[in-house]
Amino acid sequence: MTRNTDLDNLHPVVRQKVKTLIDKLAHENIPLRLFEGYRNPERQHQLFSQGRTSPGPRVTKADAWQSYHQYGVACDFVLYIDGKWSWNTGPKFKKYWARYHELGAEVGLKPISWEKPHLELQNLNLQELVMGNYPEGGDESWSENLSSNILQWTKGPTPPPPRLLFNRPELPSDEIDEEITPPIGITPHIHSIVQTGSTYRVTARNGLYMRAGPGTDFDILGTLLANRSVVVTKKSGQWYQVDLQNDGLVDGYCHSGFLVRVI
Ligand SMILES: [Zn+2]
Repeated sequence: MTRNTDLDNLHPVVRQKVKTLIDKLAHENIPLRLFEGYRNPERQHQLFSQGRTSPGPRVTKADAWQSYHQYGVACDFVLYIDGKWSWNTGPKFKKYWARYHELGAEVGLKPISWEKPHLELQNLNLQELVMGNYPEGGDESWSENLSSNILQWTKGPTPPPPRLLFNRPELPSDEIDEEITPPIGITPHIHSIVQTGSTYRVTARNGLYMRAGPGTDFDILGTLLANRSVVVTKKSGQWYQVDLQNDGLVDGYCHSGFLVRVI
């Protein structure tokens, strides 16, 4: 679980603030650098487990989806001195952290009392984020990253994917019903004849991954578009085996969180 400093995964409003903050820090020769921006729920959960169910000191109060980092609206800057990261808040470095917080406030990022490196977008409420009420102005790079993390999270409930409407060209009418087929060269190795089951509809606005097996460790075979129907042939925990053509042949597996039964 590596940390992520890709500014494109941040919400555009925060991305701009972080860029400005980086410039301001550099301008004043303050040795703080972006250490982490977007943090996926897997890494958040791992950090939360530390000091609770796994060894080590406690490092966060937030479990998966309980930190602003999972929504791309927070960042952590850490001292970077002589080629090394440092969390030192001793007297020698106090002025740097204080100035970092001042400059953060200037761009509209607020600190939290128990964690010096952390700044987050002000005037937000975690409960709103959990319900999918994201800040306005989201763009595709932020949304796609958040959506894919939501779709891949299988250890508990997730917030809904962002609802963004992008200007995409209308499909020619004869292609609208075209099936999503696995990329050339990847053949699902699980073709077998099974009893035809119930029809379900994909409810993930940004599409649902279909995988080669029941879990996120399996290869992604393709993405099923929102509202398309699939036949569920077997249930395997939270994962459903699906048949896309209703021909009795298995095409792959999808997470059940974004499938609702229609027939
Ligand atoms: Zn943080």
